[in-house]
Amino acid sequence: THFGYETVTEAEKRKRVAGVFTSVAESYDRMNDLMSFGWHRIWKDHFVSTLNPGFSPLSGSSPSGPQHILDIAGGTGDIAFRMLHHAHVVNANPSVRVTISDINRAMLSVGKARATTDLPASQQEALSFVEANAENLSQTRPLQPILSETEQTFFDPATATSGIPDASVDLYTVAFGIRNFSNIPAALREAHRVLKPGGVFACLEFSKADKWTSIFESLYKEWSFRAIPLIGQLVAGDRDSYQYLVESIERFPSQEEFRDMIVDAGFVVAGKGYEDLTGGVAAIHRGMKP
Ligand code: SAM
Repeated sequence: THFGYETVTEAEKRKRVAGVFTSVAESYDRMNDLMSFGWHRIWKDHFVSTLNPGFSPLSGSSPSGPQHILDIAGGTGDIAFRMLHHAHVVNANPSVRVTISDINRAMLSVGKARATTDLPASQQEALSFVEANAENLSQTRPLQPILSETEQTFFDPATATSGIPDASVDLYTVAFGIRNFSNIPAALREAHRVLKPGGVFACLEFSKADKWTSIFESLYKEWSFRAIPLIGQLVAGDRDSYQYLVESIERFPSQEEFRDMIVDAGFVVAGKGYEDLTGGVAAIHRGMKP
């Protein structure tokens, strides 16, 4: 299977991405650990603790008002659960609410089942699940149950019942999601629209490894291009989907190019606008809506 950017339309890409994540939903959490040697947990912990949700109100929210975090492409809940734990437990601020949103109902359903078993009731109450395409957040609907195995689990905008209002979000997060979007500038514009003035856009994504780590980089490439599809085949019985995942990492813009896209969408960035993790294998980008 080839997922080359140039040859597919946006709608086609969206459909393929939907297929990938429907087929990996059940094995996703296990595969993440294998593919990144467990690093993704460290990156996610770091992402959440540096954002420090619930510590003090972000500048856009009223001092006592609840903070609203929107976790886009939230999948099976890794970021949303960490945000809730950090805000409610570490910062003892139970007023923080998290909306976890994804285009794929199969991923969200795994997340919802995990939330039911892993989270205390108070955190479950502060969490809501929404189906949406990150490129158009004015069309959403609450998570629907999956009724049959053959059902289309990809969000169909024709079924939308609601939307995310302008200036309603304090913190927008997206982790390992944005490289899958067909139209990244559209998603950044939507992030800007839904954030309150003073609200923060934060993205954790695979990125370009530093040149000084060239030995490391070539080993990493060797590893990712050969081993990940093989592990995908052995563990999840699905080579093509994992092949797609490594190719999408390769195609994603560099740290600087992505920072410029964030600025073009109307955000202001501090310093160089990003932080490299593990020699640039992943990076965190942040922007504030003025
Ligand atoms: N954020 C989670 C994490 O860090 O574990 C999940 C990341 S998973 C690699 C990528 C997610 O992006 C999938 O759940 C997929 O369904 C979602 N996705 C892909 N395209 C999307 C789009 N256009 N809008 C919203 N979500 C999308």
